[in-house]
Parts: sequence; structure tokens; C-alpha cells
Amino acid sequence: MTLVDHDKLLAAVRLLIEAGGDDPAREGLRETPERFLRAWKEWTSGYDEKAMDVLKSFDDGAANYDELVIVRDIPVYSLCEHHLAPFFGVAHIGYLPRERIVGLSKLNRLVGVLSRRLQVQERLTTQIADALQTALRPHGVAVMLECRHMCMESRGIRQPGASMVSACRNSSQSPRAARAPAASWMPRPRAAGTTWSPWTCASGTVPSDEPPSATRICAAGHSPRP
Ligand SMILES: [Zn+2]
Repeated sequence: MTLVDHDKLLAAVRLLIEAGGDDPAREGLRETPERFLRAWKEWTSGYDEKAMDVLKSFDDGAANYDELVIVRDIPVYSLCEHHLAPFFGVAHIGYLPRERIVGLSKLNRLVGVLSRRLQVQERLTTQIADALQTALRPHGVAVMLECRHMCMESRGIRQPGASMVSACRNSSQSPRAARAPAASWMPRPRAAGTTWSPWTCASGTVPSDEPPSATRICAAGHSPRP
């Protein structure tokens, strides 16, 4: 967190409470600005860390490992940069190693570092994919984030359901990558009303009117099919 005059911050939170119609001096709210600022510091603590630092210590032994590495249901807690409202859900990450693998817990940490900032789900998704692509240089990476947005569900259009956003990176001409399209493990939408966002791929964007699938990814230029 950047150093900002603490008293000014406390005054700002008190002002917000007043703007909502309550009295920041009443018993239950007196300590709230301090508590909020402590929580805010934690929610934005990702700015203090670098994604690459999380991924820089590698485990060896991937040279002969050509199977997909998949970690599903990594918790995501982030803040929407448009409304400062929470969005939260799970991340699913899969990659096909080339020479490097990373400890599975590092994927958890990577998601934490990148999500504890002001974000949009699409950018968070691509940042996770790009960080893994840069650090591990795997045959391919696929990342899917399935999140509920307070700003969408509790206000405005009040649309329930999780948004699913995916990103894939594929840097390899290897037939191994073609054999195991990274997105084939990705889950189907869970809830009615789930919305799809376009898949952003190195070679194109898949239309958002249908769920991404291994076939669609291939059609977009990754792991081309005959
Ligand atoms: Zn929002």
C-alpha cells in the first residue's frame, strides 16, 4: 500500500459512512474506519508483490513429463476496478510443461498476488496466463476464471450468475500440444444465466455466443486440427 496520510484516510472513510446516511461517531461504527483500512490493505496487498517472484523458483524434472498439469478451484478474491466491489470465485489452471514445472502451491500464490489488486476479470485471467507463459515457457497454458460480481448481482442490472472468462496461450508447434488441447479439461457453465466472455487467444478471438471448447480453440488457430 502506498503511504498516504493515515488521518486523511480515516476521514475519507468517515465521510463515506456519512454519505451513506449513518453516523460515524456512533458506538458500532467508531472503530470501523480503522478496521476497513486494515482490510483494504490486505485486499490490495497484491501490489506489494510481483507475479514473477512467486514463480521464479522452479522444480526440476519436467523434461520427461509431457502430461497436463491441472489445478482446479483455486480461490479468487478480487475487487472490481469500476465499482470497488468484490468479485470472487475460482480459477482453473492447466498447462502442458516443456522443461519447467512449478510447485502446485505457487499457482495458488500467483492467483492471490494478481487478484489482490483492483482488477477486471478479463485482465486478471490473461495476466495469470501470461505470467505462466513467461515463467515456464510451456507448450501451452489455459486459464479459466469463474467469478460472481457483487456489482452485477446486487445493483444495476442485478444479473445473477457467474461470469466465465478464459485465456489460452500456446507457443508450441509440438504434436504433444495438439494431442492434449489444454482446454479439454475445462468445466461447463454451472448456473443458468452464466455468461461467456470471448476467449482471447494469441491468434484470434472465439465468438462469445457459444461456450469455448477444445474444438473452438483449435479453430481459432491453436493446436490446429486436420
Ligand atoms: Zn464492477
